Parts: sequence; C-alpha cells; structure tokens
Amino acid sequence: MTIHKPLQTDKNIDVVSLDETLASLDLAGRLSFVAGLGGRVVFTTSLGIEDQVITAAIGTHRLPIEVATLETGRLFPETVALISETEERYDIVIRRYYPEQDDIDAYAAKYGLNGFYESVEARHACCHVRKLKPLAKALEGASFWITGLRRGQSGNRASTPFAEFDAERNLIKINALADWDIEAIRAHVSEQSIPVNPLHGRGYPSIGCEPCTRAIKPGEPERAGRWWWENDEKRECGLHVADASHATVLSSPSQQ
Ligand code: SF4
Repeated sequence: MTIHKPLQTDKNIDVVSLDETLASLDLAGRLSFVAGLGGRVVFTTSLGIEDQVITAAIGTHRLPIEVATLETGRLFPETVALISETEERYDIVIRRYYPEQDDIDAYAAKYGLNGFYESVEARHACCHVRKLKPLAKALEGASFWITGLRRGQSGNRASTPFAEFDAERNLIKINALADWDIEAIRAHVSEQSIPVNPLHGRGYPSIGCEPCTRAIKPGEPERAGRWWWENDEKRECGLHVADASHATVLSSPSQQ
C-alpha cells in the first residue's frame, strides 16, 4: 500500500482506499467526498458530454471545485459558445487557460500553423503548446484533478480507475465517471436538461480542436474522429497518457 500526500493538503491519502470509497458513491457523492479532503480541487472540462455531466453536478450542488478549460485557440465555435452558456446556466465561472502567443509563433515558424497533419511529432508539439502547457498552469498547486474519463471511451481507457496517483503532476487524479457508459450519460443529460455541444448530434461523440476532430461513421469507436489521420489506436493529446497504470502507481510511483 502506498500513501500519497498531494500538494496543499495535510492528509495522507491511500489511493486504493479512496478508489474503493469512490466506487461505492454516486457522482455527486464522489465529487463531494473529494472536495472535502482539502487542498485545491480542479476539474478540467473539454465541454464534451461527460464533462458537462460533471460541471452540472458541481454547479447544482455548489461544490468547492474549480472548473477550468483549455482554450486552445482552435476550438469549434460551438464549443466556445457552450462555455458561456454553461457558466450562465449553473452560475459558475469556467476559467480559460490559453496558450502563450510566443509558443504559438515558435510552433508556426517551425512546423507551420497546421503542421500537425504532417507528423506525429508535429502534432504532439502542437498539443504540448496549446494543451499541455496550459494544463500545467491550470493544475499548478492542485491536490486533486477531476476528469471525465470513462472506461468505455476507448481500449486505451478500459481500465480507468476512480482514483490514481499522477506522479508527474504530484496530485491525485479522480475519474469520477469511470464506470458510466455512454447510454447512462445520455439518459442523465436528457433527464437533467444539461446543455451539450450540438456537434454530438452531428456524429461527433468526442470533440477536441476543430482541425483535429471529424465526425465518425456508424460502428466506429467513440474516439475514432480524433487525429483520424494517425494510424495509432492509442492516439491521445498527451493530457492523460503520462499516467501510469493504477497498479504501477500503487506499487512504485518512481517507476513511471
Ligand atoms: Fe493542435 Fe490539434 Fe492538438 Fe489542438 S488537437 S492542440 S490543434 S494538434
């Protein structure tokens, strides 16, 4: 058993116990429990349907969880509009984290503004500038990072735990919807009249930056429309791929 002491909380956290506790709670209970552990709790939303479910729970229950989004500068207009709509609906602030203009200029000079189509390296470099660096700012000093990752989103996410230690960021990552399937998400959104991105209704189950997301065909995996030109089933933007597996984290954070 490994006990973790995330930043800015005086509590030592046993991630295995936390995972088990969260498994026994409903969504609001999970969020509320984590918010009560102390320290800074940040939820990063992409405004996708899963994240809207979490934002609605935070807003409805007035939970002391910061809501942040990575405004990459390449989002769909529908996504940008949904940020404001969601703020108004739940009377919350969604803090936008932007890339640095100097980084964007340097990227464009080296690869071209849309150089991400040319190679995996160029794509990762763009995600680094527009997503990973702003994410690092959003999570600075946080003890807990809430995400909307689900096991059913892709094979790569099939073993997503409720709680895992993120050694790279020295915080505990909480995947509050890990066990929800897409049908449950849609039913909840419908019951609660939660605002969602209209692109979901046009064949986009997973929505990222506009130039890197396309609609999927019937029968394709949920994330098939993300970086579709790359022939790699594990393609991710890098926000979540640094995570070691639950078991590895628990056995030895230093092995990551
Ligand atoms: Fe750049 Fe595409 Fe990554 Fe967005 S998803 S940061 S546009 S490579």
